[in-house]
Amino acid sequence: MSPGIDDLPVRDELRGKSPYGAPQLDVPVRLNTNENPYPLPEPLVERITERVREAARHLNRYPDRDAVELRTALAAYLTRTAGYPVGAGNVWAANGSNEVIQQLLQTFGGPGRTAIGFEPSYSMHGLISRGTGTGWISGPRNEDFTIDLAAAEKAIAEHRPHVVFVTTPNNPTGNAVPASAVVALYEAAQAAGPSMVVVDEAYVEFSHGGSLLPLLDSRPNLVISRTMSKAFGAAGLRLGYLAAHPAVVDAVQLVRLPYHLSAITQATALAALEHTDTLLGYVEELKAERDRLVAGLRATGYDVTESDANFVQFGRFEDSHAAWREILDRGVLVRDNGVPGWLRVTAGTPAENDAFLDAVREIKKEQSA
Ligand SMILES: *Cc1c(COP(=O)(O)O)cnc(C)c1O
Repeated sequence: MSPGIDDLPVRDELRGKSPYGAPQLDVPVRLNTNENPYPLPEPLVERITERVREAARHLNRYPDRDAVELRTALAAYLTRTAGYPVGAGNVWAANGSNEVIQQLLQTFGGPGRTAIGFEPSYSMHGLISRGTGTGWISGPRNEDFTIDLAAAEKAIAEHRPHVVFVTTPNNPTGNAVPASAVVALYEAAQAAGPSMVVVDEAYVEFSHGGSLLPLLDSRPNLVISRTMSKAFGAAGLRLGYLAAHPAVVDAVQLVRLPYHLSAITQATALAALEHTDTLLGYVEELKAERDRLVAGLRATGYDVTESDANFVQFGRFEDSHAAWREILDRGVLVRDNGVPGWLRVTAGTPAENDAFLDAVREIKKEQSA
């Protein structure tokens, strides 16, 4: 027998744990990982090729360690779309927002410190906390998946976490957190801490409302985290970024690996940002498809959590895993996030969404027959 993980001297807090992993099954319709269903448009593919070819000529050198051109372009995108002026000094980029979150936890969390999130929410906040030796506190939510503010403020006062995560729109539930609630959590965190409040806006481009970026005004311990994985349709690129006061950007320099963002990544992201308007056009189509999924599910008799994201949480099921399997048997892969009674479906192309709606209608019909 070859040795297993348990035979290795791994850290105690990693023993017996499982890695993050959505099933990557080969089925006709995959609506389980909140990706954008549209491949990048051909003119953008051409532009990426050009930019990468140019970058390839300089691969003998390390990339721009500070990614200044890219951070300037990201700042311009935020300023234009979120209605609050930021510059390159307010922005930091890394390989996916997961790396941004890891850098934040390495900087502000770590051994002897704690982070809190309000669950169910994005499981990586807890997993990256564990990976960085940060203690994880699971905060509460209401029955309807809104944040229970009174309970959240109490938990913050009691545990005095060093990092507070707020995901809006939330994953996997889809609902957005009002700005007033984020302000209340920020104030509670400063009274208990001071501590950093990280607002994960991975899905904000799909939201009915706007970004919480303007809250950065006079809140030096606030961080807004963003990604090109969802709205920009570039999950394969691995580009996440944050906006915050420049001191936060300076602080994460203490932990970032030198030259962490490859020249190829920087060139590709810059090309994608040149095509922002086209990509945001797809976002509008996906928002309409998301609303169609909500309406279709409700009309079929399912409960749906209000969604500001590119996915919809629906239920209720006595056995959500059995329901997941029934939908899979009809060729559609959705996500069982382990929220009892609920499943999550990502908005795909109109044809994919039709296949999903047909499947769940058929299941409902069989149940009532
Ligand atoms: C998908 C997702 C991300 C994106 O992570 P990347 O590393 O940028 O791909 C971040 N936060 C939430 C809540 C997500 O659902």
